[in-house]
Amino acid sequence: MLYFYPGPSKLYPTVRQYLSDAYDSGILSLNHRSQEFVNLSKSTISFLKEKLHIPQEYTIFFVSSATESWEIIAQSLSPQGSLHIFNGAFGQKWYEYTLKINEKAQSFPFGLNEEINIHFLPTIEIDTVCLTQNETSNGTQVSNETIAQISKKYQNSLIALDATSSLGGIEINWHYADITFASVQKCFGLPAGLGMMVCSPKAIRKGMEINEKKYYNSFIFLYENMQNWQTNYTPNVLNIYLLNRVLNDVLPIDLVSKQIKEQAKNWYGFLEKSYFSVLGKNPNTRSDTVIAVQGEENFIKAIKEKAKNQGIILGNGYGKWKNNTFRIANFPAITQEEIEALQDFLEKFISQEVSN
Ligand SMILES: *Cc1c(COP(=O)(O)O)cnc(C)c1O
Repeated sequence: MLYFYPGPSKLYPTVRQYLSDAYDSGILSLNHRSQEFVNLSKSTISFLKEKLHIPQEYTIFFVSSATESWEIIAQSLSPQGSLHIFNGAFGQKWYEYTLKINEKAQSFPFGLNEEINIHFLPTIEIDTVCLTQNETSNGTQVSNETIAQISKKYQNSLIALDATSSLGGIEINWHYADITFASVQKCFGLPAGLGMMVCSPKAIRKGMEINEKKYYNSFIFLYENMQNWQTNYTPNVLNIYLLNRVLNDVLPIDLVSKQIKEQAKNWYGFLEKSYFSVLGKNPNTRSDTVIAVQGEENFIKAIKEKAKNQGIILGNGYGKWKNNTFRIANFPAITQEEIEALQDFLEKFISQEVSN
């Protein structure tokens, strides 16, 4: 089977061996306050910093998922409200969940083919500005330049980035990102059930100042535990172990990012040349890691079915694009050969459609 689903997604083939190594190592039966766990946690965080070029002074937390990060940001970092700028289903969900926790949450939706124009954004004092850096539902992304502009406009706010389907695939400009979170079943090629939150010193200071302590996952508790490389609850040690091993293997993010961007360019060129219609029409906002292809409902259904019969799993559409798109993950674990196999399939499918 070839997996192009954008999460859960194709695992690195090495995961098979690492799973049994994890068992043999004994780490899975050890207490999460043990020295062995502390060593694993410390080493994984140092790999993350090294491979993703995260500044040393940033703090990384292990959480259970990206969704949990939405909750932590709403509960512990946004008492005076958050501004949610989004153009798709994940950004909207983030806003809606936040609104239930804090009615001061504000939304600023923008169009699928629009670039965020900072002059149209409201001039307000707000704790956090929430951006879905890579909108997995529609295959669009917010550029580092736009994030920089937003960060300058909201100097007193924290910039929170949902980079769930891009962290580990493309480079984040850490300078403008105060809280960046992701889960490992997208660009890290691992099974689901572990997330991470990368926080700037500014985010840590703000969390301390706010000092919210009402929940098991209050930011303060995360921070206190991480002082000893530990977590507030029993973490997914297996996945932390796998992340550690996979990070050891991957190239530094600048090289990974270069390759992912080249592959994305190749994908968009291929799709246009082959008469497929990319959902996002603006080349400046198309995602490098998740590609959404649009079509008639019947066409989308037929292509997914035929692909599946040939051992290729395409991603379903998501949210309001559920029935009229399919999605292709362009994640680091996917090989050039696999991409070529999918492109061959798509070319053949189209030529049969045309001749029918
Ligand atoms: C997948 C995804 C999520 C949810 O991730 P979980 O690990 O299921 O919490 C959130 N945001 C974006 C942009 C995603 O792609």
